[in-house]
Amino acid sequence: MPTFIKLIDEQDIARRVQELGLEICRHYGDEPIIAVCVLKGAFLFFSDLVRALPQQMDVRLDFVRLASYGDRTHGAEKVEFKKDMETNIEGKHVLVVEDIVDTGRSMDYFLKVLALRRPKSVKICALIDKSERREVELQVDFTGFALDKGFVVGYGLDYAEKYRGMRSIYDLIPDGDGRSG
Ligand code: 5GP
Ligand code: MG
Ligand code: MG
Repeated sequence: MPTFIKLIDEQDIARRVQELGLEICRHYGDEPIIAVCVLKGAFLFFSDLVRALPQQMDVRLDFVRLASYGDRTHGAEKVEFKKDMETNIEGKHVLVVEDIVDTGRSMDYFLKVLALRRPKSVKICALIDKSERREVELQVDFTGFALDKGFVVGYGLDYAEKYRGMRSIYDLIPDGDGRSG
């Protein structure tokens, strides 16, 4: 078994998600938005976040799946769609809901594709902003938590498809990592 070090407790996640819901509502006011969940990692965050948005907000939901190829525990080298969204976003406000922005390459790719579809605006909401390894200039508009190093799992985040159901967020230290102390 790898070692799990708890970084963010489920109650802290829940609290922060409620705050994000209010921040997002304050930003958009009465404007309708299309909230786009980036599968799979953001699925739990997305489901909690959309329920944290006040009921009077006009929110439509959609889903995309991006695949990145390259080093598994690190960022993407190459990005492509495994599943595209289904909504026409032309002239609409789009809120992209992502699990983690790390190097920023996945989001950068996705934003470029979205821009071609002429939305009114695009904002990014990320559960975790890991800015230390950022390779492309990218602004996260609504950030749940900022982390620097580490590889985290739980609350939707996986390692080789495992651990998504864990209720808190953990730093994962694999077997035979060779780290000491
Ligand atoms: P990028 O490097 O392109 O910003 O990140 C690509 C994707 O890699 C993220 O959206 C996330 O799904 C995954 N990723 C990056 N860092 C971590 C991490 O610490 N844990 C997990 N489980 N996935 C990560
Ligand atoms: Mg992701
Ligand atoms: Mg993953």
